[in-house]
Amino acid sequence: MSDTKYYDVVVIGAGPAGMTAATYASRANLSVVMLDQGIYGGQMNNTAEVENYPGFDNIMGPELAEKMYSSSTKFGAEYAFGTVENIEVETGSKIVHTDSGDYETKAIIIATGSEHTHLGVDGEETYQGKGVSYCSVCDGAFFKDENVVVVGGGDSAIEEGLYLTNLAKSVTVLHRRDTLRAQQIIQDRAFNNEKMAFKWHTEVVEITGDEDKMTGINVIDNQTNDVTHIDASGIFIYVGLKANTQAFEKLGITDQDGWIITDNKMQTKIPGVFAVGDVRAKDLRQITTAVGDGGIAGQGVYNYISNLNASIEETA
Ligand code: FAD
Ligand code: NAP
Repeated sequence: MSDTKYYDVVVIGAGPAGMTAATYASRANLSVVMLDQGIYGGQMNNTAEVENYPGFDNIMGPELAEKMYSSSTKFGAEYAFGTVENIEVETGSKIVHTDSGDYETKAIIIATGSEHTHLGVDGEETYQGKGVSYCSVCDGAFFKDENVVVVGGGDSAIEEGLYLTNLAKSVTVLHRRDTLRAQQIIQDRAFNNEKMAFKWHTEVVEITGDEDKMTGINVIDNQTNDVTHIDASGIFIYVGLKANTQAFEKLGITDQDGWIITDNKMQTKIPGVFAVGDVRAKDLRQITTAVGDGGIAGQGVYNYISNLNASIEETA
């Protein structure tokens, strides 16, 4: 006997987009499972303070994740652990293959978000967990009263750098240009923070250290080509995101950079396969926009399944 589990809707990824889609679909009385390769919450678990989510002046990312999870399971949606490896959409029903079993479903909502890009320099892998980090909330406390550097000039680098100033002795931001990409309000705070310093036109060439931990980095000034060394016990890397779409590559639903293309109903070109949140090709990747996408798709699967059921009844 097959141990394939059946749900009306399978949501892949339990970040803010997936959890909101699950809330809407289960509230419409569909059976829903959210599959995630880790704990629910997605990138919110790696975010210090969130101050641009309506209804909260300021809330820690993991706390917001808990609240959304509570909403998402209130109407019966379930959460299950598993990494989705691929999906089959050729047949009438759709099959989602995970490393811990298969799921059959009528509709799929892809909400797999994105993950941090690596610098790709020597020492980055060697010292991961030994000074190299991509998450200030997770690792910041290990660097109390120490000197750390942050790489990048976007919202993540500057906002997480500000968080680190509460813990570290100094935070030096290394940016490859001389203008930040981060929102102005975040920039203003950073420039006014006396524990924060900036090195412009600076790129990391190597992360150095001893057997146990990193001790510094070699950087190049991309205007003069001078290479210098900075002593630091930690480096927090925030140089952008890449889409988590490896499992869906064969479906031909992504653009040239790997982001999934949808219409404004979050529907991909494959009927019954929706995509929401950061994984979509879109301009603004935020919790609010992820939640908005999730609501639209949660309602969209209800309409899709209602039409599917009606056409099955007609032909019966
Ligand atoms: P994610 O949150 O990335 O969730 C995707 C989920 O899918 C993850 O749980 C992942 O484990 C799972 N997954 C991936 N692949 C698979 C697979 N193959 N099988 C099963 N599960 C899978 N936005 C704001 O609005 N305010 C902020 O203050 C803010 N701060 C941020 C700080 C940082 C450091 C970062 C990186 C981002 C921040 N953002 C912020 C952006 C915000 O976190 C994202 O826009 C939002 O989390 C996107 O939600 P999502 O559900 O689309 O994806
Ligand atoms: P991002 O906006 O893509 O910024 C990446 C930064 O890294 C850029 O400054 C970029 O430099 C730099 N960079 C890229 N590749 C590099 C390399 N190889 N070496 C050195 N530097 C490199 O990424 P993000 O900051 O992670 O933000 C991702 C998304 O999440 C954005 O949509 C952002 O708005 C959102 N977010 C929102 C909040 C918030 O609302 N509070 C907080 C965090 C993140 P250039 O500037 O030169 O390109």
